[in-house]
Amino acid sequence: MSEHDEEIEGQVIEQELDPERETRRRFALAQIRQYPDAALKMAARPVELFDDELVKLAERMKQLMHEASGIGLAATQVGVLQRLFVFQPNDEDTVAVVNPEIVERSEETDVADEGCLSIQGVTVPVERSLEVTLVGKDEHGQDVRYELEGYFARCAQHEADHLDGVLMLDRTTAEARREALAVLRPRIVLQ
Ligand SMILES: [Zn+2]
Repeated sequence: MSEHDEEIEGQVIEQELDPERETRRRFALAQIRQYPDAALKMAARPVELFDDELVKLAERMKQLMHEASGIGLAATQVGVLQRLFVFQPNDEDTVAVVNPEIVERSEETDVADEGCLSIQGVTVPVERSLEVTLVGKDEHGQDVRYELEGYFARCAQHEADHLDGVLMLDRTTAEARREALAVLRPRIVLQ
């Protein structure tokens, strides 16, 4: 998920003030699969082996997420079909959640615009549960449990969807999807 509000507000200033940071952001985005890459539509497999490779993957994903100005990144977005994502469960931390499962969700929902590091340049309204409980393991195999709300709960739901090959475009209204595709399709042809 991308930090779209801050990014849009900060983009011009960021480009003028810090070209090096902007270069890093573009380089990071170039390593993230872009819609309509087939990997984005695939369901990831459960992680069975907690080894050094998994720790390295989690570290690389955290770094890419930060460099791309994102607030969450799923393994399918870097072409790895394993059930793992990184995200911020609060304002301070960035964590990896392996074999994540949303075990509780509030009936109360909220609609807000979402962005995605794999679907750049568009945002669409998505209805999400206001509160969720997320369980799984960290990259070292330790159990983790996060009680999330608002923005953090939204991000966890967006990233969990990625591991099932579900995109924000699949969760939005028919009208918003049509508008988003009108922006995305000409770009696909040009590439
Ligand atoms: Zn996304």
